[in-house]
Amino acid sequence: MKKHEWESRRETRTEHRKWEDSLDGVAYWLGDLPVPESLESMIIRAVHRLPSAAREFVYYNCQFASSEDGVVRMRHVPQARQPWLITVGARHVDESLIIHEIAHAWLGHEWDPQRGELRITQQDEEVACDLTRQWGFEGEGTERIDRPH
Ligand SMILES: [Zn+2]
Repeated sequence: MKKHEWESRRETRTEHRKWEDSLDGVAYWLGDLPVPESLESMIIRAVHRLPSAAREFVYYNCQFASSEDGVVRMRHVPQARQPWLITVGARHVDESLIIHEIAHAWLGHEWDPQRGELRITQQDEEVACDLTRQWGFEGEGTERIDRPH
């Protein structure tokens, strides 16, 4: 391969990586999210702020839906292609709450095989809060409070 061809391939790869790290790239990989537009852009912004390995984990393991009850919850749906279903309520949501649920999934925390709900210990909860903070988020998702999951 001639030098300029190699350089141009390297440039293409660099460009591609830049695109993958952009909001557009994240939106592309998340695909169409069945949620209202304001929630969609919040999810995209939140996932965009994750380290790239965690971002890829989300692309392959998490799906999102909206819910009526105004909170963020997560269920494990083993038969789904992306087994973690995160439902996001329209009210009272911030990025850290979405990332908190992603942290539980990333950490491989236990779930109830019948109901699909997380079965977490106090320690699991603390670790998820800490990881949410380590990933650069502030807010309720980093606070050790009694929350629905
Ligand atoms: Zn939690």
